Amino acid sequence: MAGTRPESVEIVEVGPRDGLQNDKQLLPASAKAELIRRLAAAGLRRIEATSFVHPKRVPQMADAEEVLRLIGRLPGVSLSGLVLNERGFDRALATDTLDEVTFAAVASETFSQRNQGAGVEENLETWRVISRRAREAGLFRSVTIVTAFGCPFEGEVPVARAVDLARAVAEIGTDELSRADTIGVATPPDVEARFGAVAEALPGLRLRAHFHNTRNTGYANADAALRAGVAVLDSSLGGIGGCPFAPEATGNIATEDLVYMLGRSRVATGVSFEALRETTLWLEGEMNRRLPAQTAHVGLFPPGPAARTS
Ligand code: MG
Repeated sequence: MAGTRPESVEIVEVGPRDGLQNDKQLLPASAKAELIRRLAAAGLRRIEATSFVHPKRVPQMADAEEVLRLIGRLPGVSLSGLVLNERGFDRALATDTLDEVTFAAVASETFSQRNQGAGVEENLETWRVISRRAREAGLFRSVTIVTAFGCPFEGEVPVARAVDLARAVAEIGTDELSRADTIGVATPPDVEARFGAVAEALPGLRLRAHFHNTRNTGYANADAALRAGVAVLDSSLGGIGGCPFAPEATGNIATEDLVYMLGRSRVATGVSFEALRETTLWLEGEMNRRLPAQTAHVGLFPPGPAARTS
């Protein structure tokens, strides 16, 4: 049963990582650093800055260390890096500029084998090691369950599977649990059922949601997630980010469109719509194309000076 929306929500900006990672057009490290600085200036307090994966697999993220070096410290902003294995974690730790690590647990065996090169259980054992080391290093730990709403190879992911995996991750240890609709198939009832079940099974665990707008259900899903007890939402500026299993798809839900929706829903984000809009228009110049976000192009309603939705 859908509950009421919270008074405020935390947005994690994932554009610099999830948004860019599959983009064929390589953005220079200096532009990525500028993007992250602009996002911080817009009021975003958590930014997934990069990932520490093999540069041959994800060429766009080959400059992880360089991007972080160019950014330096941003006061009041927590920067995170995605790691998939201990080697990635070693790299992340060595930068000495990250506040958070994000790890991907996988809901389906086939996707885990193909994407992580390890089975679901083996992957969880990797997290056991990284989780302990991250805690010792004082890093905030977030685990994202990918393909949490559907797998491109195995199809539906049952609610019971969602709960079992969430429990396994929570028992190993994490500060936050995210569920990602990696291929953009979820609908609001799926979101309510799965987050509702996890919230019931693991009360007190901080929940985060990651939606792609592949099938235009992303914003409805974000609203459903808030009403199901989720405290943190991911989005990407401009709606950048593809889906490797749907090449023509639009990307993650767009930060400015989400901020517009939440502002009109009386859910505070602390983020400036105007600063996001200006950043999207700047990024369109850097990428030489129009980005999927709608409000960056059509503007706010009602028109007039944009208020910071705090
Ligand atoms: Mg994603």
